[in-house]
Amino acid sequence: MVMLGRQGAGKGTQCLRLSRHYVVPHISTGDMLRAAVREDTDLGRKAAELMANGELVPDDIMIGIVEDRLERGDTTQRGYVLDGFPRTVDQADALAKITAGRPLDVVIDLDVPREVVLERLGSRRVCDDCGANYSVAAPPRYGWVCDNCGGDVVQRDDDKPAAIERRLAQYEAKTAPLIAWYEGRGLLEVVDGLGTTEQVLDRMVATIDQRRGS
Ligand SMILES: [Zn+2]
Repeated sequence: MVMLGRQGAGKGTQCLRLSRHYVVPHISTGDMLRAAVREDTDLGRKAAELMANGELVPDDIMIGIVEDRLERGDTTQRGYVLDGFPRTVDQADALAKITAGRPLDVVIDLDVPREVVLERLGSRRVCDDCGANYSVAAPPRYGWVCDNCGGDVVQRDDDKPAAIERRLAQYEAKTAPLIAWYEGRGLLEVVDGLGTTEQVLDRMVATIDQRRGS
C-alpha cells in the first residue's frame, strides 16, 4: 500500500503501526534519505541541502531508491507500506511500472486539515539518533534528551516555519493531484486522520481489511 497525506498528518506513526499490524516492512523514503544524510553519502549531502530548503529530491533519484528497495525479498514476499513516495504524478507513473507485476492493493489519503498540520509540525521535536517523535506538549522526561536512546531531541530544519510553508505549498501543487490520479484508478481510500493514534489506526485497518476481503 501507499500512504498519502500532508506532512504532519501522522503518516509516519500510522505507517509504523500498520507495518506491525500486518507484519510488513515500513518503507519511509524520508527515513532512507535521513540515514543517507547521517552516513554523509553523496546522496545524503545532496538531500541535506534540498531538505534544509524545504525542496523535494528530484524524481530520478527518488525512483531509483524506491525501485532498489522494492526488489528486496522482504517486500516481494510480504508486501509493504510505502511512506513518502510517490509525491508527484510522474513518480506515481514510475511506481505503477515498478509494481506492474504486483500491483498496489490500496492508496490511503490520511486526511488532516492544513491548520491542524501547521500546528502539529511547528511543535514537533525529533530524536536526532533514533527518530523518536516528541512535541512541545509531550517532551522527553529529562530536558531534551531522548527517553529511548539518550540522543539529542531537536526541531528538524524541515519542521521550521519557512520550510513547513514551502512543504505544504509543494504538497498542494504536486501531491494533491495524486489523490485524483489514484481515485481515477480505483485505488484511493480517504481516512479521517483526526483523533487518537488508536482511533485512526482502527479506521485504517477496517478500510484495508474491507478492501482485501472484497
Ligand atoms: Zn532516540
